[in-house]
Amino acid sequence: MRILVNGGGPAGLAFAAFAARSGRDDEITVRDRAGVEDTYGFGVVLPPAAVEVFRDVDPGLADELATHVTGWDRLTVHRHGRSASIGSPRLGAMDRRTLLRVLRRRCAELGVRLAQGAVDPAADGYDLVVAADGARSVTRAQRARAFGTTTRQIGVDYIWLGAGRAFGDLTFLVVETPAGPAVAHAYPYGPDRSTFLVEAPGHPTPAALTEWFAGPLGGARLLENRSRWSRFHEVRNRTWVSGNVVLVGDAAHTAHYSVGSGTRLALDDARVLAAALCAEPRLTDALSAYEAERRPVVEHTQRIGRLSAEWFAQLPDAPVERLLGDLATRGGRISWRDLATEGTGAVPVGG
Ligand SMILES: Cc1cc2nc3c(=O)[nH]c(=O)nc-3n(C[C@H](O)[C@H](O)[C@H](O)COP(=O)(O)OP(=O)(O)OC[C@H]3O[C@@H](n4cnc5c(N)ncnc54)[C@H](O)[C@@H]3O)c2cc1C
Repeated sequence: MRILVNGGGPAGLAFAAFAARSGRDDEITVRDRAGVEDTYGFGVVLPPAAVEVFRDVDPGLADELATHVTGWDRLTVHRHGRSASIGSPRLGAMDRRTLLRVLRRRCAELGVRLAQGAVDPAADGYDLVVAADGARSVTRAQRARAFGTTTRQIGVDYIWLGAGRAFGDLTFLVVETPAGPAVAHAYPYGPDRSTFLVEAPGHPTPAALTEWFAGPLGGARLLENRSRWSRFHEVRNRTWVSGNVVLVGDAAHTAHYSVGSGTRLALDDARVLAAALCAEPRLTDALSAYEAERRPVVEHTQRIGRLSAEWFAQLPDAPVERLLGDLATRGGRISWRDLATEGTGAVPVGG
C-alpha cells in the first residue's frame, strides 16, 4: 500500500514507525514543514504506563523513550504561602523535541521516507492518507463537511512557557493579582527543566509572570518557545474517516491541556491504527475498527477535559487542602471518598 502521512508530530511519526514495523510491504512517506528544532512546546506528559504500552510493538522504542521520561508520583498545590501535597498515580513527561527526534530516527531506520515541506491535502495516487497535521489540520479542513468538524473554545486564556528548574511533582501554583488569581501548571521533564503553563487575566508579559511567581521559581528563568496567549480549542469530528483519509491525534480530537493527555492520545491513536491495518484485510474495515476502538476513550478524556477547564475557570477561593482535594476529584475519576478511604488525604507540607 502507498501511504502518505500528512504531519510529522507525535501521531504521524509514531504511526509511520508502527506501520513500518508491522512487516507489511507498505511504502510510507511522512511530510512536515518543520524540522525537529523548529517545533513548539516544552515537556509533554507521557506517563511511564503509556510508554510500556509500546513494548509489545517496538521494545527498542519503548526502552529508548523510557530513558527520557522524568517521573513523579505526587500532586502539589501552593497558595497564600502554603502548600499541600497528595500521592498520585505515577506520571511523567519528556522533552517534545527529544520525543520527535527519537521517533524520526526510528522511522528512518525502518525505511520511512521523511519529506520536508507543506502537507499535500489532495494526496492523489495514495491508497491511504493519514491526516496527522495537528489541531488546525489543512487535510481535515479540505473535507470539513465530510468529517463534521466542530471546534469550540474552552477554559480561560493561557500561555505555554518553560521554567529553568525541575519542580519535584505536578505542581499548581496560585498567586493573587489585582485582576484575579493566576495559576501556573508546572511539571518536570528533565534535570533542570519544567513545563510552566500559566492561566492569568490580562495577558501579563513573561517578565511580569517571573515576578509574580518569583517565590516558587526560586530564581529560575521563564523560557519562551513560540509562546503566546491563546484560548484552548476543543476539536471534535462526527467521523474520523472519509474515503481513504483518516484523522489521528490532534487533527481528530483535542482534550483540554489541564488533563495532560494530548500526546498520549496521539501515540495511542497511532498504535491502534497501525494494528487495525494489520488485523483487517479490507482498508474500510481497518479504518472503522480503529475509530470504534479509539472514540470512546477519546470522548471520555474530552469530557474530563471540559470539567477540568471549567474548574480552573472558576477557581474557588479556598484553603490549599480543599483546593488539592477539588483538583484531584475534578474530573470524576477519583472521589472524595477515595481520598479518605485510600489514605491519600491532603498532607500540608508547608505553611
Ligand atoms: C502551542 C502548543 C503547545 C503545546 N505544548 C505542549 C506541552 O508542552 N505539553 C503537552 O503535553 N502537550 C502540548 N501540546 C499538545 C500536544 O502538542 C498535542 O496534543 C500533540 O502534539 C498532538 O500530536 P499530533 O501529532 O496530533 O499533532 P502536532 O504535535 O500538532 O503535530 C502536527 C504536525 O503537523 C505539522 N503540520 C501542520 N500543518 C502543516 C502543514 N500545513 N504543512 C506541513 N506540516 C504541517 C506540524 O509542523 C507538526 O509537526 C501543545 C499544543 C500546542 C498547540
